[in-house]
Amino acid sequence: MAGGKVYLVGAGPGDPGLITIKGIECLKQADLILYDGLVNPLLLEHVSSEVERTCRVAEGCKNRRVLKQDEINERLIAAAREGKTVVRLKGGDPFIFGRGSEEAVALREAGIDFEIVPGITAATAAAGYAGISVTHRAHASAVALITGHEDPTKPDSSLDYEALSRFPGTLVFYMGLHNLKHIVSSLIEAGKSAETPAAAISRGTTPFQKTVQSTLKGLPESVQNAGLVAPSLIVIGECVTLRDQIAWFEQKPLFGLRIGITRSEDQSESEIQQAIRLGAQPVLLPTIEISQPADWAPVDQAISHLKDYDWLVFTSANGVRYFMDRLWELGMDSRQLSHLRIATIGPSTAEALLAYRLRADLVPPEYRAEALAESLKPLATGQKLLWAGANRGREVLITELAEVSATVDKIVVYENHDVSAWNEDSLKLLETGEVDWVGLSSPSIARNFERLLTAAARAQLGKSIRLASISPVTSQAAQEAGLQIDVEAKDYHWDGIFTAIQQYAASGP
Ligand code: SAH
Repeated sequence: MAGGKVYLVGAGPGDPGLITIKGIECLKQADLILYDGLVNPLLLEHVSSEVERTCRVAEGCKNRRVLKQDEINERLIAAAREGKTVVRLKGGDPFIFGRGSEEAVALREAGIDFEIVPGITAATAAAGYAGISVTHRAHASAVALITGHEDPTKPDSSLDYEALSRFPGTLVFYMGLHNLKHIVSSLIEAGKSAETPAAAISRGTTPFQKTVQSTLKGLPESVQNAGLVAPSLIVIGECVTLRDQIAWFEQKPLFGLRIGITRSEDQSESEIQQAIRLGAQPVLLPTIEISQPADWAPVDQAISHLKDYDWLVFTSANGVRYFMDRLWELGMDSRQLSHLRIATIGPSTAEALLAYRLRADLVPPEYRAEALAESLKPLATGQKLLWAGANRGREVLITELAEVSATVDKIVVYENHDVSAWNEDSLKLLETGEVDWVGLSSPSIARNFERLLTAAARAQLGKSIRLASISPVTSQAAQEAGLQIDVEAKDYHWDGIFTAIQQYAASGP
């Protein structure tokens, strides 16, 4: 056997939460990931491996070379022979209309070690998200997965429509949208009742899921009227009517909205997940990048003199993480802090401390540097404070606390830099007005967002794109930068932004 290994992994149908735990483990371990066009790119956001999209058809794949199946097989074999761990990531399940078995045969013939990691296939996933159970005790004792991609003029069609029309259960056609008329007429001609309930589900399990429900006879026209696009599934059978009672996904509060997330990429995981939970599609529009400080020496110096301080002050969750991790890297731990009292600027900073099993002694009633200084003044008069913060930010704490003869030593435990440009796909969504909302979660983010706008993107503000601000301070900074804020969060964190958007959406524009 060659040194490398290939994992043929099912990515699930679209919702990035619908990949298996084993699939995620494979992504983490991979040196190279070759993924196909049905895979949700959000799944690849946080992997450090080399990532490449394979295209078998030119459509939707501009700037990329179209590869034949043989060429993909060769790529897999060559990379494994170099000793790499390769993940071949495929939409849905690799062995359901996914050519996964062809790849496995090629790997076996080449003597390459491989494993198959099944995925949730579109039929069960999209039907489930549309409120259609493909089997049912009363309505369907069997389910058939069928390709609708066959050329209708092919004389030796392998689809036996007579048999399919007599099939005692639900019929699910993959890849059948462009052949829909032919499929429907063939089934009806073969004896299937024209009144059989039927549905088409487009882009199932994504925020752009669309379901059309009709009779078998009426389905082609309904699909055309609704303008459904690929990928779509066709589901035929009595169980389609269950949807009337159990449809759920399309009713999510932010269903179908695209929401721009402006935090730095390595900080936005929880906002991305929250947007998805609410039914929205997150669009990554990072405005700042976070990195470790250029020079750790002042931090290390302060850590070696912790005994001299009375208070440790954090004004961001990042400050907590970078400081605590550095302490650990230097061979120490939270016991070094036992004599210190800890102040944080707000609840999310205090929450970041909890991850290190530390409680904040002080969280001011309002999330502002001024409020933190006011709360500290009576408690820290004449004392020494160590402030673990960023290279940028307001220095209010230092000047305010000087008034009560308290000394604040600031150390830079992480750096904040402006992003120079957005990625092409996200920018295009802004410029075409396909982003519905952008959340602005700090004054510097608001200013940077404005700076990164192209003329075409700016022209969409107030028309197609609305802005949600996290707090009055952020709204003010946005307005000073020339941006018009549409809603402001009542609670000053990202959940507050989502709630404000939800309320706006519920009350109608
Ligand atoms: N291996 C995949 C199927 C690949 S064939 C799986 O197991 O799901 C591609 C076809 O799958 C599409 O033409 C469409 O019929 C179906 N499909 C894939 N993703 C889908 C989705 N999110 N919604 C509806 N149909 C989907």
